[in-house]
Amino acid sequence: MSGADLHLHTTCSDGTFSIRDLVSRAKRRKVAAISITDHDYCESLDEIERWCDHYGVETISGTEISTVKNGSELHLLGYGFDPDHRPLKRELIKIRKSRTARAEKMVKNLQRIFKLDINMNDVTKLTTSNIGRPHIARALVNKGLVSDVNTAFVKYLNNESPAYVGKYTVDTSRAIQLLHDAGGVAVLAHLSRYPDWQMIDDLVADGLDGLELQHPSHNLELKAKIESFARRRKLLLTGGSDFHGGRSPSNDIGSEMVPYEFFEFLRDRVNKRMEITVK
Ligand code: AMP
Ligand code: MN
Ligand code: MN
Ligand code: MN
Repeated sequence: MSGADLHLHTTCSDGTFSIRDLVSRAKRRKVAAISITDHDYCESLDEIERWCDHYGVETISGTEISTVKNGSELHLLGYGFDPDHRPLKRELIKIRKSRTARAEKMVKNLQRIFKLDINMNDVTKLTTSNIGRPHIARALVNKGLVSDVNTAFVKYLNNESPAYVGKYTVDTSRAIQLLHDAGGVAVLAHLSRYPDWQMIDDLVADGLDGLELQHPSHNLELKAKIESFARRRKLLLTGGSDFHGGRSPSNDIGSEMVPYEFFEFLRDRVNKRMEITVK
């Protein structure tokens, strides 16, 4: 049996594949288990489970929450939580609302600062909800204003750009608590962006359950460090391709995976957490 890809995006956030197409491709690429981790979103679990049943792929609820700790944005993966848990759901809705307001501001900045001929319709055409910078980037590509998405980020949309506007983010420790209250577990995503081990230890003290081990941005040295750090603290290890669409072999579904048994460890930990939450 092949492994588990536990970091995937669909059109419910900034991916380009529908849920059905993603699950079908996961099956074709012989991935045994998946978790769809759309940004600040988990409203489609029924549909995900239906297609996973249909294609014979195992799954667990997932999301990637935009959080902040000591001023830096950390992405927190949640797994196995109840997506109908009200406080968690409310917080995710709050982030998504702020994404829309922030996209409007960024589009205005692109017009004003960079004199780009782009408006909000060009962006909302590409998504009904849950707008991210990749949608603005794709709108710029569609209008012929940049050659590709990466150039859009380099020239206009990166965090240092004068057009950049931040979105509402939730404190990382609070997001961990919300996931726990919803019966789930919390895993820190792509540590390549913030290898601050003291801060990670503080998050472990706040209940962080695991670290993402496999990710396209992780080199061998970082993976070795994550593995030993996690083993010493009995943390879960997860991983995935961070697929957003596109078919280049380096970021296709299943290009980064953890062994299937890591998926079982994750499920076991979630079941234990459920017992704690129910008690
Ligand atoms: P946002 O959540 O709206 O702030 O946008 C961040 C998202 O943009 C990330 O989740 C990535 O999917 C995407 N992203 C960030 N940098 C780049 C880049 N250089 N090229 C393509 N996509 C990027
Ligand atoms: Mn993304
Ligand atoms: Mn991320
Ligand atoms: Mn991601």
